[in-house]
Amino acid sequence: MTLPKFKRILLKLSGEVLMGNQPFGIDTDFVASLAAEVKAAKDTGLELCLVIGGGNIFRGMAGAAKGMDRAQADYMGMLATVMNALAMQSALEKLGVDTRVQSAVQMDAVCEPVIRRRAERHLEKGRVVIFAAGVGAPYFTTDSGAALRAAEMQCDALLKGTSVDGVYNADPKQDPAARRYDVIDYDTVLADNLKVMDASAVALCRDNNIPIVVFSIREKGNLARVLAGEGTQTTVRKDI
Ligand code: UDP
Repeated sequence: MTLPKFKRILLKLSGEVLMGNQPFGIDTDFVASLAAEVKAAKDTGLELCLVIGGGNIFRGMAGAAKGMDRAQADYMGMLATVMNALAMQSALEKLGVDTRVQSAVQMDAVCEPVIRRRAERHLEKGRVVIFAAGVGAPYFTTDSGAALRAAEMQCDALLKGTSVDGVYNADPKQDPAARRYDVIDYDTVLADNLKVMDASAVALCRDNNIPIVVFSIREKGNLARVLAGEGTQTTVRKDI
């Protein structure tokens, strides 16, 4: 499916893609290759906001399952997203891409707080803005953070770069007959409980009419292909 030409997008990367082929943490070589993809997208003239998850380091639910207080564990997860944001900032700046990190949990010595109007100015100046710490509250995820920032920054689309190449009607790892959707509407995603993003993130995109494009970021060059309408992806939008 050909995508409309976007002017400003929010790219959400799951934390797990930063692991590369490692079982945990940050693979700096792989982050460098992701940064090159981001730079290539930006060089086409796009304004780019980034949100990176934290699942490669810490997920609140995992901590809670081991007996930690959930909110406490979630704050640790948010800190993990800040570490990933800084890793991506470093990789982008090595490639000469100006960036700013804005965190929803204030950390003055490390990065800026989230200030929408300032973020707007950064984008105007051609900087990539990396939003860290999700929405800044426990019991949320970075998917919701991505949907929130896409809405407030008035992005034309939310691109979710993950390990699978779209949205399937069943788990493709478990069911060889699973079928990928090219396009699907928000309400079907929610009603069928399809694993795209959290329900709250999907609902926020639906209510603000922000298309969600789900694609695999693991294949080299895929972000550019998807943006050129040549890649494999699923678009979640209204009126299909
Ligand atoms: N988190 C949170 N509030 C937010 C965003 C993130 O509490 O607004 C915590 C939560 O514990 C989550 C962790 O940070 O599990 C890492 O984020 P996420 O699971 O969304 O990362 P991803 O799955 O995208 O790697």
